Amino acid sequence: MLEDKNQERTSLAELGEFGLINHLTEHFKLYNSSTTKGIGDDAAVISASEKERLITTDLLIEGVHFDLSYMPLKHLGYKAVMVNLSDVYAMNGVAEQITVSIAVSNRFPLEALEELYAGIQLACDTYKVDLIGGDTTSSTKGMLLSITAIGTANKEEIVYRNGAKPTDLIVVSGDLGGAYLGLQVLEREKQVFQVNPESQPDLDAYTYLIERQLKPEARKDIVELLKELDVKPTAMIDISDGLSSEIMHICTQSKTGCKIYEDKLPLDPQVISTSEEFNMDSTMIALSGGEDYELLFTVPIADFEKIKSNPNLSIIGHVVEQNQGMNLVTRADQEIELKAQGWNTFKEGAQE
Ligand SMILES: [Mg+2]
Repeated sequence: MLEDKNQERTSLAELGEFGLINHLTEHFKLYNSSTTKGIGDDAAVISASEKERLITTDLLIEGVHFDLSYMPLKHLGYKAVMVNLSDVYAMNGVAEQITVSIAVSNRFPLEALEELYAGIQLACDTYKVDLIGGDTTSSTKGMLLSITAIGTANKEEIVYRNGAKPTDLIVVSGDLGGAYLGLQVLEREKQVFQVNPESQPDLDAYTYLIERQLKPEARKDIVELLKELDVKPTAMIDISDGLSSEIMHICTQSKTGCKIYEDKLPLDPQVISTSEEFNMDSTMIALSGGEDYELLFTVPIADFEKIKSNPNLSIIGHVVEQNQGMNLVTRADQEIELKAQGWNTFKEGAQE
């Protein structure tokens, strides 16, 4: 529905592999002194330092992880970088380099890859990250996109998933469930469009949700905020699969339980109104809808004063002993066991 049918088409074969990489990456800037050599030799060179290095990779496959009928290529490029940077920030690190590898079928012209790389470049410029390498090749069907992010952190600054302690506060940045509902809105509009290609979608009521789905932001700002507040989380993870499964990762690795309070879950008004419209429970969506890329972390209770009134942070519960289990305390003050109902399970369930 968002495809521009009149765009120019230049076949990728006209450029050759090296011409293609040069063409796509020539306007990228380098921001980090640790990048000794970016694209242009057999391997990139990054300087060793006394800091620890953080490395994370994601592989995205068309039809599995993204749908180009409503995901513009520029947004896909931006989001693919965000997904990786988010994992570096979830370690309390600073992202410095990325590599980007793509495989595309011959249905994609040069102009499509230019769009994709425009999104990647916007992400690099916004987050001050250097594109230092990667590969492009052909696929027999569709697009595959693999990004690796490299970051640094001082050894004592790194936050793992396994450091939560009973009595720690459980904190989440931003709000939850928006990206999942944005996807539901886009899927619905796609179906309407398939039935009636002349239909003009009115998406005004869902702008925040669609932005959460199509243009998520990795929470570099929260990592910086925590440094300013002089708060070092005891455990941290980013929310890619939904709050419920992420808090379970922290608790399992920390050998603790947790209590999450339903009335503390941060929900945008559009999440509440659109949940009602779709006849879905907004708490379920906050717990199980994925792709919000917010940070979920635990802090010692002694840090309560430092974070309690920050508008970017919500205290949603606390860590308890492992034998108390992992529970949601409902508005009616009932305790319900949390289920690891992540993004994919939920999505499949919703389509039944
Ligand atoms: Mg992660």
